[in-house]
Amino acid sequence: MESFEQIREGVRALCRNFDSAYWRRVDEERGYPDEFVRALTEAGWLAALIPEECGGGGLGLAEASVILEEINRCGGNSGACHGQLYNMGTLLRHGSEAQKRYYLPKIASGELRLQSMGVTEPTTGTDTTRLKTMAVKDGDRYRVNGQKVWLSRLQHSDLMILLARTTPLAQVKRKSDGMSIFLVDVRSAVGHGLTLRPIRNMVNHETFEAFFDNLEIPAENLIGEEGKGFKYILDGLNAERALIAAECIGDGYWFVDKATRYANERIVFDRPIGKNQGIQFPIAESYVEVEAANLMRWKACDLFDRNQPCGAEANMAKYLAAKASWEAANVCLQTHGGFGFASEYDVERKFRETRLYQVAPISTNLILAYIAEHVLGLPRSY
Ligand SMILES: Cc1cc2nc3c(=O)[nH]c(=O)nc-3n(C[C@H](O)[C@H](O)[C@H](O)COP(=O)(O)OP(=O)(O)OC[C@H]3O[C@@H](n4cnc5c(N)ncnc54)[C@H](O)[C@@H]3O)c2cc1C
Repeated sequence: MESFEQIREGVRALCRNFDSAYWRRVDEERGYPDEFVRALTEAGWLAALIPEECGGGGLGLAEASVILEEINRCGGNSGACHGQLYNMGTLLRHGSEAQKRYYLPKIASGELRLQSMGVTEPTTGTDTTRLKTMAVKDGDRYRVNGQKVWLSRLQHSDLMILLARTTPLAQVKRKSDGMSIFLVDVRSAVGHGLTLRPIRNMVNHETFEAFFDNLEIPAENLIGEEGKGFKYILDGLNAERALIAAECIGDGYWFVDKATRYANERIVFDRPIGKNQGIQFPIAESYVEVEAANLMRWKACDLFDRNQPCGAEANMAKYLAAKASWEAANVCLQTHGGFGFASEYDVERKFRETRLYQVAPISTNLILAYIAEHVLGLPRSY
């Protein structure tokens, strides 16, 4: 088992080949960091959570979280590839033996990429149980019709996990029943029932709107039992939240380090700007908040790795870390004054990137609603 420090050193060494000029160029071109993701895959880091017998690293969530934290702490953006780490968990926990034997070694080696998950729909948003995409069984296949939005990294993925209704909402006892998840072969689906439309957005994050028009999926691509897909997706969300929290922690430290360096170097009125409490206190405050969020991240990972319930901790870690990294981003920008807006300082790029995590993959309001209802016992507000 590799220690956290060994993982950090390994990821840092890889990231040294992809410096800030690399990330800036990818961002300016609105490109995909293909060479970086390939190097990460070849080094085995994206297969960290796949068991060793299937060709993966056999590591826990805590170790996986260190990988993503380090990428962001080195100035990169894990958002380009983090899906591969947590989407695979759905297959690992709920896939059949045949699916696991076939797909996991190929995902571990990089032959197949599982970077995408299709849950969100344009008309229903966070109200997932009302999603309208239907998968209807027809002999040995399912026919899918509907629409999804914000399907990230689809262009760079061979496979996608898709959540669709298999029983209409009106016919189920509980609204979370009657949904199923499928493994979709993206390559063969595009142009044969799946149409994609890119969504240009604030971050360099390739993401798509998707239209399903009688897309055929072999019945053997159903993951787990029909009708239980919502539960399976929820299972994976705690891992996703803890991993994203770690990315935000990486961002938070990056902003604090960057601001500290600049505050020590920049001389205005014949002294470093960091001598002013108006500059140093916000940086110190950001550091305190990142450190505090980090404690909750470790707690969530530890509970997850011991198979203990961790819904509250994973949500709180994501909430605290996303908030701390965003505040650190603001402070870093302010510390840099006008230069914070210049692309060559990297602050504005990281500022945009870390802002996303207040909204996706779950917005802060929905985390607070979860804590209010499930931890505090307050009435459900929606
Ligand atoms: C760049 C990007 C990449 C993404 N990638 C993916 C992906 O790969 N796969 C995928 O499935 N999805 C993806 N998403 C979608 C993301 O998960 C959703 O945007 C997010 O969950 C919020 O849903 P929504 O945008 O539909 O907001 P809505 O549900 O429309 O909500 C709008 C606002 O209202 C608030 N709100 C809604 N209901 C309540 C309530 N009851 N109480 C309080 N506040 C409420 C929300 O918090 C939010 O702030 C991505 C989004 C972005 C921006």
